[in-house]
Amino acid sequence: MGLEDVFSLVMHLPIRYIDETIVTPIRDIQMGVLSQIEAEVVRAEIVYKPKKMLIVQVKDASSSLQLRFLHFYPSQMKMFEAGSRIRVLGEARHNLFAFEMIHPQCKPIKEGDVLPEALTPIYSLVAGVGQKTVKDAIHKLFIHFDLKNYLKDSFLPTIYEKLRLPNLYESLKSIHHPKDFKEVTSHETFTSKAYQRIIFDEFLAQQLSLRSNYLIRRALSAMPLKAKNKLTTIFMDKLEFELTEAQKKVVQEIKNDLEKNYPMQRLLQGDVGSGKTVVATIAALQVIENGSQVAFMAPTEILAEQHYRKLTGWLNPLNIKVAWLTGSQSKKDREISLNMTESGEANIVVGTHALFQEHVIFNKLGLSIIDEQHRFGVEQRLALRKKGQLDKAIEPHQLMMSATPIPRTLSMSYFADLDVSIIDELPKGREAIVTKLFSEDRRNEILKRVHEVCHQGAQVYWVCPLIEESEALQLQTAEETYLNMQCHFKDLKVGLVHGRMKSSEKQKVMSDFVKGNIQLLVATTVIEVGVDVPNATLMVIENAERMGLSQLHQLRGRVGRGSLKSTCILLFQKKLSELARQRLKVIFENTDGFIIAQEDLNIRGPGEFLGIRQSGAPMLRIANLNRDFKLLEEAKTIADQLLEDYPEASHLHLKRWLNHANERVKV
Ligand code: ADP
Ligand code: MG
Repeated sequence: MGLEDVFSLVMHLPIRYIDETIVTPIRDIQMGVLSQIEAEVVRAEIVYKPKKMLIVQVKDASSSLQLRFLHFYPSQMKMFEAGSRIRVLGEARHNLFAFEMIHPQCKPIKEGDVLPEALTPIYSLVAGVGQKTVKDAIHKLFIHFDLKNYLKDSFLPTIYEKLRLPNLYESLKSIHHPKDFKEVTSHETFTSKAYQRIIFDEFLAQQLSLRSNYLIRRALSAMPLKAKNKLTTIFMDKLEFELTEAQKKVVQEIKNDLEKNYPMQRLLQGDVGSGKTVVATIAALQVIENGSQVAFMAPTEILAEQHYRKLTGWLNPLNIKVAWLTGSQSKKDREISLNMTESGEANIVVGTHALFQEHVIFNKLGLSIIDEQHRFGVEQRLALRKKGQLDKAIEPHQLMMSATPIPRTLSMSYFADLDVSIIDELPKGREAIVTKLFSEDRRNEILKRVHEVCHQGAQVYWVCPLIEESEALQLQTAEETYLNMQCHFKDLKVGLVHGRMKSSEKQKVMSDFVKGNIQLLVATTVIEVGVDVPNATLMVIENAERMGLSQLHQLRGRVGRGSLKSTCILLFQKKLSELARQRLKVIFENTDGFIIAQEDLNIRGPGEFLGIRQSGAPMLRIANLNRDFKLLEEAKTIADQLLEDYPEASHLHLKRWLNHANERVKV
């Protein structure tokens, strides 16, 4: 079960409790309520109707009952000899012919057997390990092992006293062996002091871990890159728009960070279209005017290529060299880029995760920018961080960007090891995107609409369904849709882009779309992140009910990027699951990414919300960010102080709680 030491065993908490302290007369049993009876076996027989099963008739002074077993062992039969007395625990119900319990737990009553005085904890199990084994193992810890000493607090009791939380030993004792129903109820709702204590400790471990990582990185050296306001000023003067107040604020925050002699660890959050790229570019300029290099990384080729184009457009006039590095470019091009990177000729190197690779050597890397950071695995992020320069003692500054707005609760927990900047405002002059829900059978109306929009000179995205089971099938659907659209719209220029295309093909299609050579772009969800074509004003998403909220939000953010009024049509199949209905309602009613993210978190819970890509997140097993937010705040408030004042106690606390998880947390 992975319970390898005392702590993990004693932290294997009951999933529920059952009451074996009382015996119910058969006559008083309520339907569907777990009840315990004491009865005498009348007879037991194996019948075949049609499958082999064991039927046992029992009775007590009040009435009689049938027990039915579909699986049983010969060894069990002994207990069911006529006249034996047994204790039976199960849920009773009426079937057509009898009042019965199916597969109840039974045990023979021995001489002098008394009923348990406490409620019985029920633990989660794995195949081959029985309830009794686990229960006994944990019980033994309390009896034969000095748990009290083993579980003693590493911190002074004052921090717990202030919060009125009991000590860990008492807490666990009460959870494994609750005295009464009142205690059980409060355990089951996680509101008991005992649970609060454990949840607090778990949060505290998480915060201590993240904060100590933050402080460790902060103790490293980085190149201080003073704002010289040369390149940045020229750039801003040439820029075709004014920065929003929110952009100005985060530009300032990043500017200050870069001037420090320890590495920046900043996450820039901003909804889709809030204008993160320009902020990153300004940061890059500050680095370049100090003679250092910038790595700018994006999760997909399409996106990286788009950044490359945008950056060359913006920066070539300033005599800044932008290099391009991806896994799919020709060997020759790659050689050139690698050389430019190593010699320092390239000021910025834009690319996909190809930038991480061992043989990519930077001359003087001052800053790495990671766009859509949530799409990268933690290992990749770490790899880039490690990608220092010749002098390994100097770390590059790091700027991560994410358009997945993270609710504050989650952010406080998951990103406690980062400084977070938020762009909470969209550029002015953007028309709100209108979202419409259409059921499948109104497809024709939509096709008509597509035609109109294209003829008015705007462009359209048509997003094919996400088919999770099979990428091949998804591809097939996209290709079919593409052919259908070509047939249907003889007068429109239709394009297709999907994840399996060669990157050069992909780039060709995307640049044709940007230039307006393609009017209707059929796409799989590869266009999800970052793609920026202001002239696209209509997006149709097929089978929207299959997509997650953040995905829908990201997709929808591909339109409404210019000053034209944009529409997003969500096509759905009529038979909607409750979950799908909920999701569509949220996306229909909201445009603010932070609200959508909060709803998403509510619907899915933090684990799902962050997704496997985020599995580097310190796992909270018991604590729940939403439910236990208050305790998270408490833990956060004291974590830094504890690390500073009681480093050893902090270390002990971490060791206890994050023994195995810690490796992951380090990233
Ligand atoms: P995201 O934050 O989703 O990465 P982008 O950086 O791609 O957003 O910006 C979206 C679009 O808005 C781009 O065309 C960009 O040039 C433009 N933009 C950025 N900031 C402003 C601004 N302050 N005013 C007007 N347009 C802006
Ligand atoms: Mg972007």
